[in-house]
Amino acid sequence: MIFLIDQDGVEADFDAEMDKRIEVAFPGLEPICMDFYIENRYPEEYAEAIIAMYHEKGFYRCLQPIPGAIEGMNALTKHGDVYICTSPLLTNPHCVQEKYDWVEEHLGKEWKRRVIIAKNKRLVHGSVLVDDKPIIGGKEEPSWDRVVYDQPYNQDVPGRRMTWKNYEDVLLSR
Ligand SMILES: [Mg+2]
Repeated sequence: MIFLIDQDGVEADFDAEMDKRIEVAFPGLEPICMDFYIENRYPEEYAEAIIAMYHEKGFYRCLQPIPGAIEGMNALTKHGDVYICTSPLLTNPHCVQEKYDWVEEHLGKEWKRRVIIAKNKRLVHGSVLVDDKPIIGGKEEPSWDRVVYDQPYNQDVPGRRMTWKNYEDVLLSR
């Protein structure tokens, strides 16, 4: 088994850090809808400020692990090869390095060899891709089976889904 596990929204809690920063900048501001892209959840006039927040130096570095993710990633290594498969934000010049720093801090130095940076995840070979993004872009037929990491913004995506609470049932009972 080759497990490809997305980083943001699966291992690193992008939304929790954004919610915190939005609350500091705009106290009491509530989302008006749910969308994968956080700036789309708020009235248009806030978009620029919200986008700027995840372009700040240190943003990707300071994300907290999603509960259970670190334990789950380590446990999965007993069942196959585990890779972090992440698509960097190319407009943030700190993003790639901070993703590596995050992996080193939370998973350990040896995991840095297991980071796959890919804009097109369909080209990455694997048995399964766990990802929170509703649509994995690209036109190639992927080798992996998709598992949706359950998040409020991907509820209408069909197929198998998991969280770190039930990953064993979903990933290991094939
Ligand atoms: Mg993601």
